[in-house]
Amino acid sequence: MEKTLHNILGEIRRTNAPLAPDALDRIIRARNREVAGPVRYVAKKKLLPFYQEEKEHRPEHWRTWGVSPAEEALLVRTLQVKPRRTASGVATVTVLTKPWPCSSACLYCPNDVRMPKSYLHDEPACQRAERNWFDPYLQVTARLRTLHQMGHVTDKVELIVLGGTWSDYPEAYQIWYMHELFRALNDMGCETAVERESETRRKQYRDAGIACERDDLANWAAEAQARVTAGDASYNETVRNLYACGTHADGNGWAAAAQWQTATFSQLEALQRENESAEHRCVGLVVETRPDAVTPNRLATLRRLGCTKLQMGIQSLDERILAANHRGIGVDRMQRAFELARIFGFKTHAHFMTNLLGATPESDAADYRRMVEHPAFKPDEIKLYPCALVDGTGLVAHWRDGSWRPYTEQELVNLLAEDVLVTPPFTRISRMIRDISAHDIMTGNKKVNLRQLVDLELAKRAQPVQEIRSREIAFGAAANDELSLSEVAYETTNTHEVFLQWVTPDNRIAGFLRLSMPNADYANAHATDLPINAGEAMIREVHVYGRVAGLHQGGENAQHRGLGRMLIERACDIARENGYTAINVISAIGTRGYYRKQGFTDNGLYQQRSL
Ligand code: SF4
Repeated sequence: MEKTLHNILGEIRRTNAPLAPDALDRIIRARNREVAGPVRYVAKKKLLPFYQEEKEHRPEHWRTWGVSPAEEALLVRTLQVKPRRTASGVATVTVLTKPWPCSSACLYCPNDVRMPKSYLHDEPACQRAERNWFDPYLQVTARLRTLHQMGHVTDKVELIVLGGTWSDYPEAYQIWYMHELFRALNDMGCETAVERESETRRKQYRDAGIACERDDLANWAAEAQARVTAGDASYNETVRNLYACGTHADGNGWAAAAQWQTATFSQLEALQRENESAEHRCVGLVVETRPDAVTPNRLATLRRLGCTKLQMGIQSLDERILAANHRGIGVDRMQRAFELARIFGFKTHAHFMTNLLGATPESDAADYRRMVEHPAFKPDEIKLYPCALVDGTGLVAHWRDGSWRPYTEQELVNLLAEDVLVTPPFTRISRMIRDISAHDIMTGNKKVNLRQLVDLELAKRAQPVQEIRSREIAFGAAANDELSLSEVAYETTNTHEVFLQWVTPDNRIAGFLRLSMPNADYANAHATDLPINAGEAMIREVHVYGRVAGLHQGGENAQHRGLGRMLIERACDIARENGYTAINVISAIGTRGYYRKQGFTDNGLYQQRSL
């Protein structure tokens, strides 16, 4: 391993540039040929962890290699695995809450009793969660260490909390969960603190008799799962018993854990203040919920918890399809959820499903178009999932009797390509498949590269794509003078929105801001429910792309050229010109310091600047 690293460093010193992938492969292959044996001696993914291990734990030996900071940066660029993970400017960490009942029972939704409703234990984030007892502290610290070993900068972190409906969990658990997320970020600056706390935590779960090993969990849940899959027991009642949800069942480890999985708001707020200047800051905090659980009180609680974005399961806006799939939610409730989320300043992230029972490719295309064009919805982000058939769901019977069939690959690719083409420039399609492993899918799309197939179809059609993700500048560099500021104005049922974007001459996007100006009539009519007054505009998101730059480093990438500051100043001008007297920003905890420097002061659930 060490010899391979020296060979790579030699090449970097000679060219003063990161190695191209084929040059790196050549060096690795040559080394593997030198060391005869049945297994590969060197693998690319092991090189960076090895380098970091040497630097951290054998510093005297590492110093003999004489690696300068500039050479190290080139080495990390060369060896980084999956660079797209931090290409959008932020390191994303996904965590799961513990299993909990869901008050709906949608036909297509998986019933894995080892997971929160709708998740399957083979999905990568789910495996990580299970190995860590669904503990937020253990999940975050483990994930950040892995990302660091893969060569990613992890000081700006977006936390995505998955697991059914957030507000169905007891409030004490919600506060504790966020408390532990922030504690994990704050502790990450000190390896000893993380080690000590992790060990204490693991012991608590083991003492409570809760398993975390895959085989043990499979045995523990086997009988209950068989009953649920056979339709002899419901997911909800089974999970309620297994995890002692809301009870204090004697002898149940999860009931014991619930005794200490609590925290108060004042404890949480102390950790949030600490995070404002921590080495690893929270720059976004996302939870997922059902639209019918979105109320003014719950949104206010989410703000106190530090949340900035809501993922909402929409799936369809066709009442007939919603009813056929037992969604238990109507379109009017979804509209109200979008309006409330927007007026509270949250970024809205809709989950949308094609190929549900009763849908056709044509009805799906019309339904999707309605979501991105109707002024009630127009989500900021979309996860566009094709329905896949999973054993134990109510949809299986419809497949067997022929009333449901999966779309063919070509139908699916055509439909998704059409969806992309009608997606407006202010909306980002963040995903096109769920991470469900192929062996869990009875029938339906199993291609993990579905998005690439859609991209190929789009290339054939040669029509302009406006959707954000396809235009992100990612690693590409663009000088400030190549960028121009474009403004896309659009109306919703309760706000006038302006999407400000820095674009290159070929329409690639280097940064954007979402400005939301509430309609005075709506704000006045709902005054008692809202945390803002009529006459106050809202910045719902500021995002500047580029490979993640360290919080404490300068540099040429887009995150450090004042693009965000210029977006904010222009948003203030627009709001002022439209008669607004103040502007709020839904800042994440770790960005509060940044907004104070931009003239904002802390003001309840938001930060505010007078206009
Ligand atoms: S609301 Fe969501 S989690 Fe609950 S059953 Fe429906 S799809 Fe599954």
